[in-house]
Amino acid sequence: MTNPGTQGKPLRLFNSLTRKVEEFHPMNRAETRIYSCGPTVYNDAHIGNLRAYVFTDTLRRALTWKGQTVKHVINITDVGHLTSDQDEGEDKMELASQKMARDIWQIADHFTRAFKDDLRKLNVLRPSLWSTATDHIQEMIACAERLQRAGVTYELPTGLYFDTTKVPNYGSLSLTPMEGQSEGARVERIEGKRNPSDFAIWRRSPETGGKRQMEWLSPWGAGAPGWHLECSVMSMKYLGSPFDIHTGGIDHREIHHCNEIAQNQACTGADHSGANWWMHNNFLVDRSGKMSKSKGEFATLTSLIKRGIHPLAFRLLCLSTHYRSELEFSPEIVAGQQVRLKRLLGAVTALRLKVAPGEWLRIPREIAYSSGASLSYPRSVLENTLSPEAQQFVQSFDGELAEDLMTPRLLPILDEVLGHAKLSPEDKLRVIASMDMVLGLNLLDTRRVDLSVRPESAPLSEQEVEALLLQRQEARKAKDFARADQIREQLNLAGIDLMDGQQPAWEWRPSLA
Ligand SMILES: [Zn+2]
Repeated sequence: MTNPGTQGKPLRLFNSLTRKVEEFHPMNRAETRIYSCGPTVYNDAHIGNLRAYVFTDTLRRALTWKGQTVKHVINITDVGHLTSDQDEGEDKMELASQKMARDIWQIADHFTRAFKDDLRKLNVLRPSLWSTATDHIQEMIACAERLQRAGVTYELPTGLYFDTTKVPNYGSLSLTPMEGQSEGARVERIEGKRNPSDFAIWRRSPETGGKRQMEWLSPWGAGAPGWHLECSVMSMKYLGSPFDIHTGGIDHREIHHCNEIAQNQACTGADHSGANWWMHNNFLVDRSGKMSKSKGEFATLTSLIKRGIHPLAFRLLCLSTHYRSELEFSPEIVAGQQVRLKRLLGAVTALRLKVAPGEWLRIPREIAYSSGASLSYPRSVLENTLSPEAQQFVQSFDGELAEDLMTPRLLPILDEVLGHAKLSPEDKLRVIASMDMVLGLNLLDTRRVDLSVRPESAPLSEQEVEALLLQRQEARKAKDFARADQIREQLNLAGIDLMDGQQPAWEWRPSLA
């Protein structure tokens, strides 16, 4: 079986803390623990924010490719995030509720679903755990009390604040010197704040202006937790301290993550930051100006889909640029990636046609394409079945991936495999199947049904599986869904997962939303 952390070239990742690319080793060889800052669910996610989750997903897939088991937590911020990261303005959720004249909990629920739906369309693997801020209020209050006991807080009429001068090296993660911030970006607006960089741990509800929809009782009065506190509390709760990797958009590097680190240090009394690796993806930039929120064009995944862009073309666009570089977006650029994706799918389909029906199952079952839920990859199986020439492609793919997830260099390798004159179609399919576990482009999802077979639990022969698939197809055609579900169940019990596609993936339609 898999041998954690030892497959292929050692993985090297850029660490924002040390500002260097360093060899990555999980603390616990059995499991790599990752926390990703999630969305604030007051509107549809901007595609710039979605880039962060394609990056995190690629990181997770890369670790899996290297043979590691990953525990991944993404949070949902449904309270506490103000319109400015600097403790100013109003709570984004409360504001959205007023604007839309809808109950705040309904808004949170609606946009949480919308966000998860976006990730599903982008083929981002489900995290091991979704963690919602409002489910952790009592733990946040307990953490705030600990911070108070540690002597790093002070109280103002507006709430409880963290004194950033009480922890050593506050803000060392940030790229902007703190001195500059106190004069420029961080203008002090909260009366009584001791330092411009101090931030709210608990915000007391204002006495005027009506009751907030989201508020809880605390030793500092009725109010709500600060945004930064949420991530410290939830990451420590589920992943321990320190854990392996904390991810987020590069905008979090300046304030949100600096504040998390300050809290982590004060809370645990340790001098580590709470995570061994801090990783940040760069911005998505729109020089065409067509993505502006005011126009509402191209700003969300749904708006792309409405314009005929497949979500996986956006995923491919994300992969085409290294995560630490700015990703240039324009309707033309993403349309170009759609053409590229169609070409890839067309080439894979042509290969599939060269392999006799049923032959797909003869590709080693362990690497049969999986939708990702049970992504596992015993590398040794693949290497034993590939020709030496095909193995070389896998090695160069692994080498580029291991160098801080150099995804733009992975795609030409894929092209080379597809166009290679000597590799057999089976060999090519095997190599592509394994590469796509990292790329997540569903390149092999071009048949009506794809299979992920767990051979150790599969008592059915290949012929029996094929026969059942055919019967299920007939049942679905005849709208006998009970029978179709029964067969799915039978196959599931035999360790076979089914993925249904409405039509071959390369014939997508804009109505996908
Ligand atoms: Zn966060």
